[in-house]
Parts: sequence; structure tokens; C-alpha cells
Amino acid sequence: MIALIIFSGVVIVAFFYYREEIGQGYTYAGRQAAPVKSLVLPVPQRYKEILLKYFPYYQMLSAENKGKFEKKVVRFIYGKQFIPRQVDEVTVEAKVLIAASAVQLTFGLPNVYLSFFRRILVYPNDYYSSITKRYHKGEVNPRFGVIVLSWQSFVDGYIYPNDSKNLGLHEMAHALRFESLIRSEEYPPFESELLEQFDDYAHRVCNDPEFATQTFFRPYACTDEHEFFSVAVENFFERSELFKAEMSELYAILVRLLGQDPILLKVGA
Ligand SMILES: [Zn+2]
Repeated sequence: MIALIIFSGVVIVAFFYYREEIGQGYTYAGRQAAPVKSLVLPVPQRYKEILLKYFPYYQMLSAENKGKFEKKVVRFIYGKQFIPRQVDEVTVEAKVLIAASAVQLTFGLPNVYLSFFRRILVYPNDYYSSITKRYHKGEVNPRFGVIVLSWQSFVDGYIYPNDSKNLGLHEMAHALRFESLIRSEEYPPFESELLEQFDDYAHRVCNDPEFATQTFFRPYACTDEHEFFSVAVENFFERSELFKAEMSELYAILVRLLGQDPILLKVGA
């Protein structure tokens, strides 16, 4: 009897001592199970309603591709930990739409779920960084596997669909690019040769003194090759026709890199 009491005591103490690790273990196991869970469990009706109401890219898809898109959204959500910052929770709408922006970007890339990035931090508005001493709309931190987003700026990206600014796509594009560098052997999201071609083009454009007048990309694109890629992705989806008309070679590389052509989607091909 005494042994049982001591044993129970040890178990209880151990549980309280390690409960954080145990909790994290469950969460980790849960995320590892994302591929199976997303295959087995039905897509929640609420997710479909949110996509249908708020996500134009999804609205343009065929019935078959809508189903494929939903599955990818579910798997993305199961595979990530959404962490609210300065708010109580990350709402279902926020989870679904953030996942949807990642799926929009990677829809033509089978098996790409930006899995190197496990945590998504969501702030209600632009947030102050004590490191840069500036307000930020979003960032991607490969060291910690974190994507950070301001919800207000994320929503603005989809409220104004043709201004070539879309925070969600911009940050997901950073994540995809990092993922392609980090996981190049295991799961290359795209061919490294194509990315080299893309970067060569970027360097050529950005070193051209007449860049500002020659292209419709905002000058911020030439900060470095990472920003160029993200700004190009924003234009790829938001001003597809103009992009193709202005820089058809670069547009064609992006079509191959991302395995999709938004122009074909818009005309219903
Ligand atoms: Zn950026």
C-alpha cells in the first residue's frame, strides 16, 4: 500500500514536472500525423464556407480542384501550430485563409507544405520589433521555423486583389524559397536550375540603371534575390497579364517553378 502511494506520488510529481514536455509531445505527434489525418478526416464544412466566401483563387477552381485545394488546406492546418500574439486566439477564419494563401502558392507543387516552418505567429496589426526598432507586417525566420503575419495586413492583401501587394503570398514565397534551399536534397520544392535562371534574370534587371522606368515591380524588389522572388510572386498572382506582357521570360520561369499559370486559371482553362 505504501509502495503504491509512493509510486502514485512519483507519477503525479513527474506528470507536473514534465507536463509541458508531454503537452508538446502530443502537439508534435499531432503535427506528424497531419498527412494521415488530412486523408482520413472529412474537410470541415466551415472551412469550405470560408474559402467560398473569402478566397477568389479557390472560387475560380473546378469542382475537382476545389476538393484538392481543401485537402491541402486541412493538411497545412494540421501540420502547423498557430500562435496568437496580442490576441486571445487565432480564429478559424484566420487559420483557413492563412493556410489558403500557402496552398495558392504551392498548389502546383505536389507534397509541398512548407513543412520546415512549423509555427505561425499571428499579430492583430503591424507589430513592433525591438531588434529592428521598426514596425513590421510580417517576416519569415528559418532559424526558428517561424512565419509571422499581421492579420490586418494579410486581409488587406486580399481586399485589394490587383495592387500587387499581398502579405500572405509574399511571406509564403519567402518560406518556399528557404524551404527549397534547406531541403534541397530531401524534398526539393522546385528545380534549383530554374531558381538560378530566375535569380540571373533578377540580377540583370536590378543592375540595369533604367530599372525604375522599365518595370512595374516596386523598387523594393531589388533589395535582394529573396525580396525579388516574393515581389514577383505577388505580381504573378495579382497582375498576371501585365507581368506576362512586361517580362514574359520571367513569367514563364515562374510558371515552371510553381507548376501553375494564373492566367489559365482566370480564363477557366
Ligand atoms: Zn519580404
